[in-house]
Amino acid sequence: MDPLAMVPQVVLMGPGPSLVHPATLRAMAAPTLGHLDPRFLAIMDETVARLREVFETANRLTLPVSGTGTAGMETALANVVEPGDRVVVVVAGYFGQRMVEMARRLGAEVDVVEVAWGHAADVEAVAAALRRGRAPKALAVVHAETSTGVLQPLREIAAQAHEVGALVVVDAVTSLGGVPVEVDATGLDVCYSGSQKCLSCPPGLAPVTVSPRALETMERRRHDVYSWYLDLRLVARYWGQERFYHHTAPVNMVYALRQALELIREEGLVARFERHRQVARALWAGLEAMGLRLAVGEPGLRIPSLTTVWVPEGVEDAPIRQTLLHEHGIEIGGGLGPWKGRVWRIGTMGESARLRYVIQLLAALGASLRRAGVRVDVGAALAAAGSVGQAAT
Ligand SMILES: *Cc1c(COP(=O)(O)O)cnc(C)c1O
Repeated sequence: MDPLAMVPQVVLMGPGPSLVHPATLRAMAAPTLGHLDPRFLAIMDETVARLREVFETANRLTLPVSGTGTAGMETALANVVEPGDRVVVVVAGYFGQRMVEMARRLGAEVDVVEVAWGHAADVEAVAAALRRGRAPKALAVVHAETSTGVLQPLREIAAQAHEVGALVVVDAVTSLGGVPVEVDATGLDVCYSGSQKCLSCPPGLAPVTVSPRALETMERRRHDVYSWYLDLRLVARYWGQERFYHHTAPVNMVYALRQALELIREEGLVARFERHRQVARALWAGLEAMGLRLAVGEPGLRIPSLTTVWVPEGVEDAPIRQTLLHEHGIEIGGGLGPWKGRVWRIGTMGESARLRYVIQLLAALGASLRRAGVRVDVGAALAAAGSVGQAAT
């Protein structure tokens, strides 16, 4: 028996991967072309052009790195940071900490701006850290911290970094395609994402874009990038006009990304951001009407594509998630680090950001909690979500 024939359709509402549109899955099943076939090269060019549209950038150096979001993070840091460089990292959760670990391995002198979990960075504290000691080479920050559900004040932080001449390295893994990132308007120098979150493509590619200013800095490096595979100057020669063989692009993944980006273009970025906002507001209203408490109190700080909600007192996290998955066919995520067992992480990313999935989840979560002995008002939750989310389909 083919095990894939048994794979059920799961409603993916965790922190990634998100649901993939059937057209994107079909694109993956197209015949594999040679990675230097002119017809594939045309598809690569289209993919890059569409990536510039979602990043809202004119950056020439824009391409999908072969690997997941973490490969994007490693590419961004490895190409910017050299041994001995001072790097300021805003750590407001699990993924900020991952950036610190990578920068440390690259030999950077890392200065951390600690932000309490569930809070936004204090821009004054970031400004102070940037001005402490030697001029920093870069400032790194996660835009949408998937571990906490907080959207960081990117524009203000980027402005501070530019004042001291630091390059701005941004993780937009959970925001790109769901929340405005606006690379050029916000003044980001290196920005990366992942295919599997708001872009709604399977995991496997990490879009990266680099400003001319950052590119200049990379060209003046004293040391080679430690990783040959992730060296953007080499990779760019394959994705650029030279078509110089570097590694074999994951051909069918590129088909998928191109198609996922095509769907985004058809929907339009503005409409897509609005859909994410509406669906999130419906989810928040539903969870609160049910009697649950959102982990990020201030609605303006919440990420529309990733909601954190406290696990109610006396309830065990894992059994509820198992019930959702096995009985209701819905996946949500558990907490990370200090929030392990304390929060659920609900993704409404890309194709998963639909009111019908929010309604399904609220009904299933409500039923599971009631069976666990928690008194929740499922009817009120569905009514609240329905009335708030009417605009979103
Ligand atoms: C998911 C995520 C990553 C890592 O992406 P992978 O695809 O799991 O490698 C990095 N940063 C943030 C903010 C994320 O949410």
